[in-house]
Amino acid sequence: MDKGTLLIHNGHDMDPLTGALGVTVYQTSTFYRKVITEMQEFDYSRGGNPTRKALEETIASLEGGAKGYAFASGMSAISSVLGLLAAGDHVVIAEDVYGGSRYILETFYRRWGLEMTAVDTSDPQNILKAIRPNTRALYLESPSNPLLKITDLSSCIAAAKERGLLSIVDNTFMTPYLQQPLKLGADIVVHSATKFLGGHCDVISGLAVTATEELGRQLYQIQNSFGAVPGPWDAWLVMRGIKTLKARMDMQQATAGKLAEWLAAREDITAVNYPLLPGHPGRDIHLAQASGGGAMLSFKTKTTEQALGFYKKVRLATAAPSLGGVETIASYPVKMSHINMPAAERERMGISDNLVRISVGLESAEDLTADFDQALR
Ligand SMILES: *Cc1c(COP(=O)(O)O)cnc(C)c1O
Repeated sequence: MDKGTLLIHNGHDMDPLTGALGVTVYQTSTFYRKVITEMQEFDYSRGGNPTRKALEETIASLEGGAKGYAFASGMSAISSVLGLLAAGDHVVIAEDVYGGSRYILETFYRRWGLEMTAVDTSDPQNILKAIRPNTRALYLESPSNPLLKITDLSSCIAAAKERGLLSIVDNTFMTPYLQQPLKLGADIVVHSATKFLGGHCDVISGLAVTATEELGRQLYQIQNSFGAVPGPWDAWLVMRGIKTLKARMDMQQATAGKLAEWLAAREDITAVNYPLLPGHPGRDIHLAQASGGGAMLSFKTKTTEQALGFYKKVRLATAAPSLGGVETIASYPVKMSHINMPAAERERMGISDNLVRISVGLESAEDLTADFDQALR
């Protein structure tokens, strides 16, 4: 079936009891125990809630996985997944993943005995060089944040599999509508559902999908024990957002493509990062593993002053962290998503003071370019 159809007919399009369209919000913490000696599916909402379950089954089917789990945020999904690893294990991580993911590995998980090496995964050789006898997992994100670098997911995952590593992919930027990492061999996909899946900047939520039932069982123990779960209203909001994902993503990425081309033609812009832009080094690989360019792009202005002036003058893009909403958002990676990264490391990677990251919304391309034009002057 077409992915757009599956977004609507996800198995939870109607409440079986009343015929209400969509899933019901089960705002309850606990459930009547019918037979006092017997465990039942819904017992206590940390362990399971029908609204959350609908979201979990929906994301599992969209990603083509065995089991899906919903969390209170993208970060709690990611930290719960990393909880599958043990002290003494080593993780190889893409160097320009979401700042928070790298931060928890470099601080808390390091303190608890998990080792990590960050490498540029756009060259798979770097992954092979970083693997040690105690390496247990490979953590990837493609396109990366905020530079939109492309990692060849299939070949990196295949190399990881050969060495018995768990492959984890953050699929937030693409969503399962455009890219399905489990089909490329990954073991676990994680999401910040706060972004394109929720789609309206009105909820913080996270998701994880496992390729196998067994990994799902292990992750469920973590979800239920640590309890970083979303409430039913948040799960419901993400479910509602998912229904319009195709419509939003199709329009947002079409506009992103136009905006990227328009920026690339300007002589006061020194770099534009968008996966489908001719000349993007990862373009062919991206097209082989995803069905669209997505709605994220970043660019560099000639000077830092010009970038700072852009945030001040731009009217149709909100200067804010986050992404994936219906409104265009201009974020400033050095002072937002990557603020915890040492400045020298940021500079080496190209996350510089003149880098602007754009999440393209549903405004018209013509209005956005006219507004960006006045803001860049
Ligand atoms: C926002 C984001 C996260 C973190 O998710 P939260 O919902 O903010 O906790 C993780 N990965 C990526 C790619 C993100 O954009």
